[in-house]
Amino acid sequence: MKMNKQQKNPILVLILVLWAIVFIIQPLDLQAEETVTIAVIGGTSFGYPPDFGKGLVEEEGSFTVETKAGESPPIYRMRYKGVPFYYIRMHGEEGRKENQETGWHFVTTWTALYQLGVTHAFGGATGGAINTGYDFDDLLIADDLILYANQRPQNVLRAAGIVRKKVFPSFAEPLCPDLRRLLIEKAKKGYHGRIHTSGVIIQDDPGRFETPAEIRMMRTMGADWVSHNVGTETIYARQLGIHFALLNSVSNPAVGTRPFTFEDMQNSVQRITAGSVPIVLECISQIPHLKHTCGIECTGEPYKGSYTKPDLKAAE
Ligand SMILES: [Zn+2]
Repeated sequence: MKMNKQQKNPILVLILVLWAIVFIIQPLDLQAEETVTIAVIGGTSFGYPPDFGKGLVEEEGSFTVETKAGESPPIYRMRYKGVPFYYIRMHGEEGRKENQETGWHFVTTWTALYQLGVTHAFGGATGGAINTGYDFDDLLIADDLILYANQRPQNVLRAAGIVRKKVFPSFAEPLCPDLRRLLIEKAKKGYHGRIHTSGVIIQDDPGRFETPAEIRMMRTMGADWVSHNVGTETIYARQLGIHFALLNSVSNPAVGTRPFTFEDMQNSVQRITAGSVPIVLECISQIPHLKHTCGIECTGEPYKGSYTKPDLKAAE
């Protein structure tokens, strides 16, 4: 009996050790292999960039990615209600190198997100209300856009040397209808301003505010709201097959429409930020349960052959 007991003890110890290894190491492995597929590309709708999510999210450090187009801006990993996501400050302007080609930080930002395997992204900026029916603090979940006098790389695939072969990116519905629906649903739960559930963005790139005549021209072109960065992001997301939607907002009535001061805009941004950050975080928490209806609208239509020869077999 004594002998038996002595023989069992090492086996029991071994079993206990193996059990411990399995139960300790497995969660660590899962953590290490956890794929992050959601990103927030910061803009002025989300306020002062370093404060994004303070007191609401868990912050898990930052890193950069060496992309085909160069080093990415810092990418912050965060977590909200157990769902991990990446956050990029102010359209990727952080750490922007001097003498870089105009708009190149958009290319490195979106190439990094693509290389990381991001499939869903949110952005948002404050802008000017060309539409005279909009007011300070209103939210705009836009459904279409115009790029005007663009001075940035037009095509992120070409700029970064990314090949998405035999995929046709559609611009019939330039912003993901599923993510837009989610933003509208969450925004309607308590946002203090009005919510416009569709509208046309115009993006120009003047490095300044527009003139009254330019705003009148943009109104004639069919635009409701003007801003300087989110149009490029919308185009790049679609070219890369990433579901993308915007929580835009009104911080001014657009030059020439009604008078406003810098202080008016500062005050509006504070109110917008307080309302819009919780909205986008709640949307992030819903992504794992999102039932997609957008089909290939955001990811692109696979095709065979070439544009002019449908039965072309050889690689182009
Ligand atoms: Zn989509």
